[in-house]
Amino acid sequence: MERATRTIINLNAIAANVATARSIIGHRRDLMAVVKADAYGHGAVNVSQTALQSGATCLGVALPEEGEFLRSGGIEAPVLVLGVIHPKEAPKVVQSRLEQTLCTLELAEALNQAGEASSDKISVHIKVDTGMGRIGLAPRDTPAFVQKISHHKNLHLKGIFSHLPCADHTDKTFTRKQIERFSELVREIAASGVKIPQKHLANSAGILDFPDSYFDLVRPGIMMYGLYPSPHVSRSVALKPAMTLKTQIAYLKRVPAGTPISYGHTFCCEKPMHIATLPIGYADGYSRGLSNRGYAMIRNRPAPLIGRVCMDMCMFDVTDIKNVQPGDEVVLFGEKPTVDELADQLDTINYEIVCSIGKRVPRIFVT
Ligand SMILES: *Cc1c(COP(=O)(O)O)cnc(C)c1O
Repeated sequence: MERATRTIINLNAIAANVATARSIIGHRRDLMAVVKADAYGHGAVNVSQTALQSGATCLGVALPEEGEFLRSGGIEAPVLVLGVIHPKEAPKVVQSRLEQTLCTLELAEALNQAGEASSDKISVHIKVDTGMGRIGLAPRDTPAFVQKISHHKNLHLKGIFSHLPCADHTDKTFTRKQIERFSELVREIAASGVKIPQKHLANSAGILDFPDSYFDLVRPGIMMYGLYPSPHVSRSVALKPAMTLKTQIAYLKRVPAGTPISYGHTFCCEKPMHIATLPIGYADGYSRGLSNRGYAMIRNRPAPLIGRVCMDMCMFDVTDIKNVQPGDEVVLFGEKPTVDELADQLDTINYEIVCSIGKRVPRIFVT
């Protein structure tokens, strides 16, 4: 029997969200499903299979290990490693038939060498920093770098890309400038006679708000999981949240007024109360920051979280809910409360909530 605490992953929602992204961008572009961090906590292999059946043409991961995991799960589609790696890691890219993000000559040389023994060329995507300030070449250094890469006989220059740091903001000025900067660069490279098939820039916010950012390929992450990148992007398309976090009541007790609850006694019952203990805690990714602030749905009623969230358990006030029984189903997030409500309470973003669900929480896939 599965653990009472589990995440339900609705693969139909993932399929619908990918189809939505596909319908926005049209049929001639590539669609890279971003499945880094175990598909934002949703389960990389299952999500990848679903995405590839629903309009995605390739996959994006952060680490070569994540690419290797997809290969061992039987995924054959192109997989791009979006992060930079140490030159010594180049053999991992070759062994798992991955594509690699590139912005240094050292890595280009290591990949070229690692590709010597391989029958296929190693596909690389050059990363340009047009304003993210994270990784990538300065645009002015890029044309010369492109020329150098074309001399490596074991490398195939498949892509060039950049990333949008502010596309989900209210003020769209910076993103428009960035799109213009990237367009100029790709025009300059094309004019020099080098053909790069996949020029790409758009994340979810780009897809939702900036049609000019689509180029040859788009890279949706958060929208595939049914969440909006921020409150400031267009909601003209409906997304379906894919993850629900559930558990069951492990223990119930009636306590007299004056009873303190959990570590530090930060909560004290002011009246006789009925209290449910749930078998989920911060080690499952249910944040301690929700202590005395969160709520969960029990018998379709909101139950306030009382006291501190422990590593493996937490307590909820069910005094006002009728007929509560041990084993009753509890929704910690999903339809209600939403992931966005938790993110607000924790002063973070929905991305962090879904990525934080712990390894010991089973993922149950439903279709
Ligand atoms: C994570 C990531 C994405 C996806 O971003 P979302 O905001 O989740 O759509 C796209 N591109 C790169 C380079 C990324 O690292």
